[in-house]
Amino acid sequence: MAPAAPITQDVVTIPRTDAADPLINLVGLTRDALRDVLIEAGIKEKQGKMRAGQIWQWIYQKGVRDFDLMTNLSKDIRAMLAEKFVIAVPEIVTKQVSEDGTRKYLVRIAGGHEVEIVYIPETNRGTLCISSQVGCTLTCSFCHTGTQKLVRNLTAAEIIGQVMVARDDLGEWPELGVPNPPEARLLSNIVLMGMGEPLYNFENVRDAMKIAMDPEGISLSRRRITLSTSGVVPEIARTATEIGCLLAISFHATTDEVRDTLVPINKKWNIEALLNALREYPKASNSERITFEYVMLKGINDSDEDARRLVQLIKGIPAKINLIPFNEWPGAPYERSSNNRIRAFSEIVFSAGYSSPVRKPRGEDIMAACGQLKSATERGRKSRKQIEDSL
Ligand code: SAH
Ligand code: SF4
Repeated sequence: MAPAAPITQDVVTIPRTDAADPLINLVGLTRDALRDVLIEAGIKEKQGKMRAGQIWQWIYQKGVRDFDLMTNLSKDIRAMLAEKFVIAVPEIVTKQVSEDGTRKYLVRIAGGHEVEIVYIPETNRGTLCISSQVGCTLTCSFCHTGTQKLVRNLTAAEIIGQVMVARDDLGEWPELGVPNPPEARLLSNIVLMGMGEPLYNFENVRDAMKIAMDPEGISLSRRRITLSTSGVVPEIARTATEIGCLLAISFHATTDEVRDTLVPINKKWNIEALLNALREYPKASNSERITFEYVMLKGINDSDEDARRLVQLIKGIPAKINLIPFNEWPGAPYERSSNNRIRAFSEIVFSAGYSSPVRKPRGEDIMAACGQLKSATERGRKSRKQIEDSL
């Protein structure tokens, strides 16, 4: 049966980040930075922390974007805030809903760039897959984002702003500002698995995730946030010490020869260097395992021998292995391994004592699955260029 046509709809515009905007955006500032800008704007020094706390709660606990609604601040303070500051999040350009309930948002950020966000509803939770960069500097050969040049890093405001616009769309700002328990939330988990390499934008990702975890705001536990990296070895330990979230590694191959072609950052930090960093990873434990992501590519990395080598390599690391059936995209140079092959691979991994779930592709009808993200304008640009080249 042909899949139902995805629903595409335009969404009403909300205030957006604009490079030319002279007003300072309060979204994305750390608590200390928020206090500092308020004091600079004329709030009395000894009130700075308290006022920052109040504004923080309005923004991140209640989802308020209008200073006039901040009723525990005096009229004068509200007027001053409106004159100097703005509460701005990315603008949703389009929203698509897959037949399986997955939602994909295309959002526009300063400079007219676009990034994609994917929301995946599951039985007891809902995961938001957010982006950390426009495009990616890395060129993993199986990844659609990798065919798009890096345009720029996202700011902390644009990163946490993705969570905020998803909560807007899901209608998930608690009325009284009291957060729902995680199991009752539509958006209960965040994965940094969208576009970009998060460890090449470390500070902004860190500041944004600190905001997501702050108990007086969005208040997601650090264990509900997973950062996925292709293996930027020198930055790995900081993920534990400065963010504290869970870690996933795009492993994908069991020899340097194959990993060099799939995940070219391997030429800089090879499998051994990566595994050494993971062996020393400060937070790894049986309750906080490192996820090894492994994309299943027919005839490339999916043999029984690969499965056996994989479990040998990761010995001693508290790990789980996440097998990802390759998600195809137009022009991709690989094919997805067969279900039987994936099952056989998974059994070898499982009998070696590792959990090895196969990730169910979600939102395929709207190109929302892992590694399929690429902004429509960039896609458009490329295809126009391809057309020109072919003339
Ligand atoms: N840049 C980061 C995070 C983004 S990608 C990283 O590489 O880890 C999230 C996961 O999807 C990564 O494991 C990535 O390797 C994988 N992926 C990329 N393209 C894919 C595709 N076409 N099919 C399946 N998985 C893919
Ligand atoms: Fe970049 Fe990750 Fe895609 Fe590699 S897999 S190109 S690191 S987004």
